Amino acid sequence: MIRIDILTLFPEMCKVVMNESIIGRAQKKGVVRVECHQIRDYAYDKHNRVDDTVYGPGKGMLMMAEPIALCFEDLCTKLRKKPKLIYMSAQGKILTQKKVKDLSQESNIAILCGHYEGVDERFIEEFVDEEISLGDYVLTGGELPALILADAIIRMIPGVLSDEICFKEESYYNGLLEYPQYTKPAVWRGKKVPEVLLSGHHENIEKWRQKQSLLRTKQRRPDLFEKYKISLEEEKLL
Ligand code: SAM
Repeated sequence: MIRIDILTLFPEMCKVVMNESIIGRAQKKGVVRVECHQIRDYAYDKHNRVDDTVYGPGKGMLMMAEPIALCFEDLCTKLRKKPKLIYMSAQGKILTQKKVKDLSQESNIAILCGHYEGVDERFIEEFVDEEISLGDYVLTGGELPALILADAIIRMIPGVLSDEICFKEESYYNGLLEYPQYTKPAVWRGKKVPEVLLSGHHENIEKWRQKQSLLRTKQRRPDLFEKYKISLEEEKLL
């Protein structure tokens, strides 16, 4: 059982996504628990302020350290431990499947969503264990990145997907992209499903998939292909 706590100014936005589909079912099954915390509940002035102007010239508002600190400390008290705190940040390390796999081994993870210009650096220095980015672009807030991270972690938890094979054969798990896939009908608008997939010959199908996976990675992601330790048998397929 993994517990993920999301610290945000928009908990409703997070709850809607986390309560749907596969993740929603996983929560109902008790395999995972996701809680969303409203940082504004920890504002300490009469206007419920959680952000203020940035010191120095320039425009923009920044999330203040104290309300986030109070929110996180309250969570630590309730959990009776300090969960690993991840700040979703355009300046963090870019998320990979390897990172997702490592994080899925944790029992408690807290995710902080920034907003406006981001978060006062002093909070990050004091509390954050890791900064994770979704890519080299800037979004308006950390909610979508937090949901993506939570989704990616949760689907790796045993019992969430029907079979572990679901993620073990998928792109990135073994360093390659997945092979192309097809469903019924066998002919769609004149386009046929590759013959071998209809043959029922499991060994040939495996070989075909392996080859497609290698070819696809080589063509689409030469950077991944270069890092992949290709076996002699796989080399023969190319
Ligand atoms: N001023 C920040 C900078 O230049 O790095 C960008 C702040 S952004 C407008 C507001 C919030 O969105 C950030 O605090 C972060 O939580 C989230 N965010 C934006 N882009 C992101 C990305 N690529 N990956 C993860 N989080 C991101």
